Amino acid sequence: MDPQRSPLLEVKGNIELKRPRIKAPSRLPLSGSRLKRRPDQMEDGLEPEKKRTRGLGATTKITTSHPRVPSLTTVPQTQGQTTAQKVSKKTGPRCSTAISTGLKNQKPVPAVPVQKPGTSTVPPMAGGKKPSKRPAWDLKGQLCDLNAELKRCRERTQTLDQENQQLQDQLRDAQQQAKALGTERRTLEGHLAKVQAQAEQGQQELKNLRACVLELEERLSTQEGLVQELQKKQVELQEERRGLTSQLEEKERRLQTSEAALSSSRAEVASLWQETAAQAALLAEREERLHGLEMERRRLHNQLQELKGNIRVFCRVRPVLPGEPTPPPGLLLFPSGPGGPSDPPTRLSLSRSDERRGTLSGALAPPTRHDFSFDRVFPPGSGQDEVFEEIAMLVQSALDGYPVCIFAYGQTGSGKTFTMEGGPGGDPQLEGLIPRALRHLFSVAQELSGQGWTYSFVASYVEIYNETVRDLLATGTRKGQGGECEIRRAGPGSEELTVTNARYVPVSCEKEVEALLHLARQNRAVARTAQNERSSRSHSVFQLQISGEHSSRGLQCGASLSLVDLAGSERLDPGLALGPGERERLRETQAINSSLSTLGLVIMALSNKESHVPYRNSKLTYLLQNSLGGSAKMLMFVNISPLEENVSESLNSLRFASKVNQCVIGTAQANRK
Ligand code: ADP
Ligand code: MG
Repeated sequence: MDPQRSPLLEVKGNIELKRPRIKAPSRLPLSGSRLKRRPDQMEDGLEPEKKRTRGLGATTKITTSHPRVPSLTTVPQTQGQTTAQKVSKKTGPRCSTAISTGLKNQKPVPAVPVQKPGTSTVPPMAGGKKPSKRPAWDLKGQLCDLNAELKRCRERTQTLDQENQQLQDQLRDAQQQAKALGTERRTLEGHLAKVQAQAEQGQQELKNLRACVLELEERLSTQEGLVQELQKKQVELQEERRGLTSQLEEKERRLQTSEAALSSSRAEVASLWQETAAQAALLAEREERLHGLEMERRRLHNQLQELKGNIRVFCRVRPVLPGEPTPPPGLLLFPSGPGGPSDPPTRLSLSRSDERRGTLSGALAPPTRHDFSFDRVFPPGSGQDEVFEEIAMLVQSALDGYPVCIFAYGQTGSGKTFTMEGGPGGDPQLEGLIPRALRHLFSVAQELSGQGWTYSFVASYVEIYNETVRDLLATGTRKGQGGECEIRRAGPGSEELTVTNARYVPVSCEKEVEALLHLARQNRAVARTAQNERSSRSHSVFQLQISGEHSSRGLQCGASLSLVDLAGSERLDPGLALGPGERERLRETQAINSSLSTLGLVIMALSNKESHVPYRNSKLTYLLQNSLGGSAKMLMFVNISPLEENVSESLNSLRFASKVNQCVIGTAQANRK
């Protein structure tokens, strides 16, 4: 059975199949055999017709009274009676009865023609009442029976026609119903397709929703984890908050205590303020007194320096160096002063045996003893610190506003450079006057800053060779080249002198001074390779410009400290042959002698208070003009070699120094504004 087939079509098919069987009775044989049938047979033969007529009547009635086909569409497809029974189940008891009755009535129809025509078999009569058999002669009666039967047949034919007609109508209705059902089926199929599509879409949506749900569940679990974490954090924070609250309370308690302490402190401070004000007044008074004392100190210091002489001469004898011949005993003697050996030595005796002065007997004349007296004499064993101690007070005068000038005079190799700059190797014990003097000035300036004084220092270092000035602090391309420098006035009408092209370097600590001395040594070394041992043939002038200011009192002071390592004072041996080198040497020597004698002359002129002081006669005296004048303080070291071979030069140096020592320069004036 085709499952797609409509049950209605099935019903229709069944009906079509059975139609000829229904029609069969209409072809009932009306032959003579029938005529032979007995009236009871006729009755029997008519019985099914009666049933059929009743059935059809019922069928017609039901068919017309139940035209609703759609109810049949739901009937499952079966055959025959089964179908009818199933239909009856669906359509209710009335319909079931009608259809089953109709179909039942159709079934016996073919039973009628089963009787073979011409057979005399009398059909059983319904009701059991057999018609009485007409005698053969009763033709009229037979004819009458036949007529009656014919009439019945005709009626039956008519009935069958009607029935046929009804069945055809029924068929048409059924066809129409089938058609309607087909249309409905298509519509339903369309609906079904739509519903399926919707279902698919729904499935898809469901799938998407499931994925969505999964994702949301995942997010939910993440969020839950987050929430748990946050909750944990919240708990921690609450804990922390509790701790902070207790801390805050503690602090508040402390604050209250502090406030109480503060108010008592305030009262204390107020009383302290009063005390401080009183102290400040006292301090101001003391400062005033201190300043007065400082001024008094300066005045007395200066007086002391003046008493010592504004020009002083110290004699320093260097020790015999390793490898040098030991001088004969008694060559140099250091007699004690009036106070005995405890007094610092101030005297020196040099004994010289003059070979030219022979006795008549031919024996050597006893050596001539030359006695000298200076402000201070330093025998060979004197250390650098000992020497500096003597000049420290003098150097300090520069801070008080007095120009200070210290010379080292003597023949080459007598220890001038050693005295001024120091010994080799950077040994602090061997440090010379320049580094020591500057260190002393820096430390005193620091002390005076407590009294309101502010000092600044600017250093320069030049050498004068053959009456030309060269910067020893030159750097870069000018290093060692000795670019020409000139001595000029700092400005029109200014007394201050300055060296053009020379570097003036501000210094404030030892390290900076060390660096400058190192640079000067380098510059001299470069010059030495170019011009043999020029350093000993030139004057080295280290100058420090000092400026002091007491801003609160409106005081200013300025002075210069000059530390001069003079060129070797030795004279050229007149017996030497004058080669080209010696000629150059002679020229150098003449320049040196000239400048040194000018220095002597300047000192003499100053001492004699002459109207003209020949400063301009040499570059050295010109450069030192302001450090040699009336207000200046001067110190000359005369350096002496301990060797016998240098006795003659030593004597010359000592004589020159003696002359200087006899000079007294007028009362020094502090350069105050
Ligand atoms: P100048 O500068 O007068 O030519 P130097 O200062 O160069 O003489 O001294 C010559 C040598 O003597 C140097 O080697 C120096 O170290 C040494 N010298 C000079 N004076 C002393 C001293 N007081 N103690 C030890 N060595 C000295
Ligand atoms: Mg020297």
